[in-house]
Amino acid sequence: MVETHEFVIAANRLPVRQTDDGWVLSPGGLVTALIPVMKNRSSSWIGWSGEPGVELAPFEHDGLDLDPVTLDQDDFDDYYEGFSNGTIWPLYHSGALSTQYHRHWWEAYRRVNRRFAERAMATTAENGTLWVHDYHLQLVPQLVRDGRPDLRTGFFLHTPFPPAELFQRLPWREQIARGLLGADIVGFQTPDDAQDFLSVCRRMLDTPGTFLDDGQATLEWEGREVTVGAFPISIDMHEIERKAVDPETIAAAADLWVQVGSPKTLLLGVDRLDYTKGIDVRLRALHELLIDGAVDAADVAFIQVATPSRDDVRGYAETRDQVERLVSEINGDFASMGVPVVHYLHQSFSFDELLTMYVAADVMLVTPFRDGMNLVAKEFVAAKLSGRGTLVLSEFAGTAQELTDAFLCNPFDLDGVKRVLLAAMNAPVEEQERRMRAMRERLTNHTVHDWAGKFLRELR
Ligand code: UDP
Repeated sequence: MVETHEFVIAANRLPVRQTDDGWVLSPGGLVTALIPVMKNRSSSWIGWSGEPGVELAPFEHDGLDLDPVTLDQDDFDDYYEGFSNGTIWPLYHSGALSTQYHRHWWEAYRRVNRRFAERAMATTAENGTLWVHDYHLQLVPQLVRDGRPDLRTGFFLHTPFPPAELFQRLPWREQIARGLLGADIVGFQTPDDAQDFLSVCRRMLDTPGTFLDDGQATLEWEGREVTVGAFPISIDMHEIERKAVDPETIAAAADLWVQVGSPKTLLLGVDRLDYTKGIDVRLRALHELLIDGAVDAADVAFIQVATPSRDDVRGYAETRDQVERLVSEINGDFASMGVPVVHYLHQSFSFDELLTMYVAADVMLVTPFRDGMNLVAKEFVAAKLSGRGTLVLSEFAGTAQELTDAFLCNPFDLDGVKRVLLAAMNAPVEEQERRMRAMRERLTNHTVHDWAGKFLRELR
């Protein structure tokens, strides 16, 4: 007899990963936000362990019931690297890379979505709640609706949703739109994303829907009401603030600043090494500012963390080559003996290590071509209790719709990025504090706990 739970989360990955010391909780806002929600009631989390071919029985970690789904090598190649990261990811990031459409990838996507849906139907209690996450599992809501109409099902997309004319390129566009509409609530990061989904529904499925005052719409669909709306994800503001003022963090930040040559201005970038993140844009901007003489190499250091990601998916190796060439061009042209300008780290860091960098940095560079939200930008602002420091932020990150007091830039306009970067580096202290105060106020009132609470209240 399978154990059932009144609240079940389904996401591609489990909230834990295996290390030499056994399972540890994965870092990140989503996991932080959902743990208290899960611990309050009978709940479980369905997801893949991260290792293809590994079969695991349900297990408990740190009081959480975890329910592993197995992916074999073909599932990994065709559902995960193929359809999810080779088709949906580039398409949903506004065609950041040309998108590939393969029928065998789609078949694998359907097969794995069915596997997740079957597990969710078997393990969610009668009249229970199921919360499905992200672009890997867009067919699950309708599959569950067909088999278990008693469940309340929510879906949240962490990536952007593309404009209708891009979405309509998908050969399986109707199946995916119908898949999502199986949920009671379809949540997006921004009102623009929600609006784009409504346009798709209107054009393809003839579903009327208009925005209500609170940025949400209700669709009539197959005799049910489906709520479509924006639920911008956020960070654990209070926890970051608490750690940022810890004397240990402050001392580590001071050490870091000395390690990188005690620069007048410390620039920072923290991204997964992904072609959507525009790491190349900020490197080009800095290089040109150094060549123009607008910035003196003796005055700056730039730490760029580029966390390894999806190494075998098309496009990622090229991005790495491009970024590494740009880094070595800058250092080749402008480093002095023992003092590089760019400190490039193709490594993964713990949150505490990142926090040290946020506290130490003067200017944070977040320049994606497209990003669902971008939590790094929010984390930097949260760490700046002093009110000092500036954020250069792409208009095409979901975050930009909330943090309108950042130094906003268009990453496709290199001269614009250079101008904005220079303004951010030279902003007077009063301007830094004014902008930071406004951004911090927004984040204080919209934490990740508020996000999870609001979504689940609406769902119930
Ligand atoms: N992160 C981390 N270690 C690293 C790099 C990033 O823990 O080496 C965390 C970072 O603190 C943030 C998340 O990973 O919470 C990245 O989220 P974001 O929305 O910025 O980008 P994504 O990787 O989801 O596209």
